[in-house]
Amino acid sequence: MIEGLEPVALQELRVLGAPRHWSVEGHLDQLPSLTPVRGQLSAEHRGNVLMVEGELSTIVTLRCDRCLGQFNQQLRCTSSELIWLGEAPPTQDDLQESEDISEIEGLVECLDPRGDFDPQQWVFEHLNLQLPVVNHCGEHCPGPPLRRETVVNEVDEAIDPRWSVLRNLQQP
Ligand SMILES: [Zn+2]
Repeated sequence: MIEGLEPVALQELRVLGAPRHWSVEGHLDQLPSLTPVRGQLSAEHRGNVLMVEGELSTIVTLRCDRCLGQFNQQLRCTSSELIWLGEAPPTQDDLQESEDISEIEGLVECLDPRGDFDPQQWVFEHLNLQLPVVNHCGEHCPGPPLRRETVVNEVDEAIDPRWSVLRNLQQP
């Protein structure tokens, strides 16, 4: 839970008549990170859409899919998004009438105008999108652990004393 990012009623943002700003610093429950999530976020009610802009960064610890080792990865995003305010997704006519929307493609989100906007959820979703599809620790990845073991068995034990220690542990 990041302090200060409580959900806010969309009606409240409408009455405000100006963008609301949040500064972000803290850890998300749903996305554990090594460093706090830092950045800023703003939301502006523009009648039938909510304009949300954010700039966020953090560092997460991931597990490499190949060597299973842990590595740190920076996540960074700068996003702006229009969220349709309506009980149902906008029709083509709605979209054509709205100047804001014709500027931006890919409007998918939709919020009930009587409901809340949850800045913390927005932060989570946008950082989550930055997670790599494939976790790879980098160019120096030693490769899958099984293959490494095979290589060690093929060479003389004396080559690397660290491996002989491991081998001794395996023996009863
Ligand atoms: Zn790796």
